[in-house]
Amino acid sequence: MIHRLISQLFLLLAVLSVSACANDVQGDLPNQKAVQTTKIDTFATPSLPAPAALDATPMQSFPDWLANFKAEAKAKGIKESTLSAATPYLTINETVLKLDQQQPEFTQTFWTYLDKRLSEIRIQAGKLQIFRYQSLLAQIQTDYGLPPEILVSFWGLETNYGTYLGNFSTLEALTTLAYNPRRSSFFRKELLAALNIIDRGNIDAKDMVGSWAGAIGQMQFMPTVYLKHALDADHDNKADLWHSTTDALTSAAAYLKQAGWQPNQPWLQEVSLPNNFDYALADGKTDVPLKQIKALGIQPAGGASWQNNDDSSVILLLPAGHEGPAFIAWSNFKVIKRWNNSNNYAIAVGLMAQRLATDYRLSIKAPKDNKPWPKTFILQLQNTLTALGYDTGGSDGWFGNRSMQALRNFQRDNGLPADGYPNNETLKKLDLSL
Ligand code: CA
Repeated sequence: MIHRLISQLFLLLAVLSVSACANDVQGDLPNQKAVQTTKIDTFATPSLPAPAALDATPMQSFPDWLANFKAEAKAKGIKESTLSAATPYLTINETVLKLDQQQPEFTQTFWTYLDKRLSEIRIQAGKLQIFRYQSLLAQIQTDYGLPPEILVSFWGLETNYGTYLGNFSTLEALTTLAYNPRRSSFFRKELLAALNIIDRGNIDAKDMVGSWAGAIGQMQFMPTVYLKHALDADHDNKADLWHSTTDALTSAAAYLKQAGWQPNQPWLQEVSLPNNFDYALADGKTDVPLKQIKALGIQPAGGASWQNNDDSSVILLLPAGHEGPAFIAWSNFKVIKRWNNSNNYAIAVGLMAQRLATDYRLSIKAPKDNKPWPKTFILQLQNTLTALGYDTGGSDGWFGNRSMQALRNFQRDNGLPADGYPNNETLKKLDLSL
């Protein structure tokens, strides 16, 4: 039995490494994603910062900029030998520039987002990884309180279990982004941190590869996070999050513990809502006492019990509107969002963990004709709402917080469930179609 499982595992890993999931190259930037520029999660995370703020620094020539940067690195204690090993990579990468400027043409819906990330093959591979690393994961759970399925979900979503680490030179990527005035001060710090990681002997400059936005290792830490949280858990004197799964998983657990993870506490639970529910309550951010949730007639979905019965507060989420699944999010959900401030991401981690641990499946299936929302469609929706007197905060083609609120108001005024989601019924009333 064990033999068969192991051979299945290696077969699967072989398949995975061939089909390595390029999907997240532009998707989820890693933790401390204050710099996230892609709009994939705009629907779910209206709180994303405006990406276009220019740093005040005037554009220098690249050689001047580089000389200045190197002087700063030296003054901050980076060794001469590190700098000279890094120098061939302190260059501009045109592909990174292009990717940084690219604007996605679609907003992912909850369903398209989930579909892309929680594939059957990824779930099966995750189960095998839990089996393969059971003693390491048990040790980590004892030391940090992180359940195996949560860690393995992050690992699967970030890099397909370490099989897709990105192939951009991190130094090149960060040099490019630090030189570009758009967010230069943020990336200059990251570039300095990357040099520090090399300086400490964790990896050679030539081997430091990752995403185009500078995220590195099996858990896609940004270099500043790496410096702060990477651990040498296998005691070879290197915190090596590229090659050591032990280091990578342990470091992620340490990070999440520090971010406030509560052991033996739930993170997400699917619920069913009563008829005539006031959808304004499900705004994905207001804390509601569990007592009130129960008083409203909300029940665990599928006849389950409440995962926690204390007097905690939860958040109600309806990521696909009133026709989709409803969730309550417990306090650990907020910890997942500290890794990546996106409801869709955090729901994907949470649901994947439940699939891995108990094979939990949502009570509601994805609609068949499910597709992302083209920018042109959202623009049309925003223009129409604006023309009707609902303030979307301007029309930019991205379905953010203001647009959602405007849509809620329109729905409320028209006797529709005010879930802020452009479902067919609402679109019909607006004389629009997707
Ligand atoms: Ca190590």
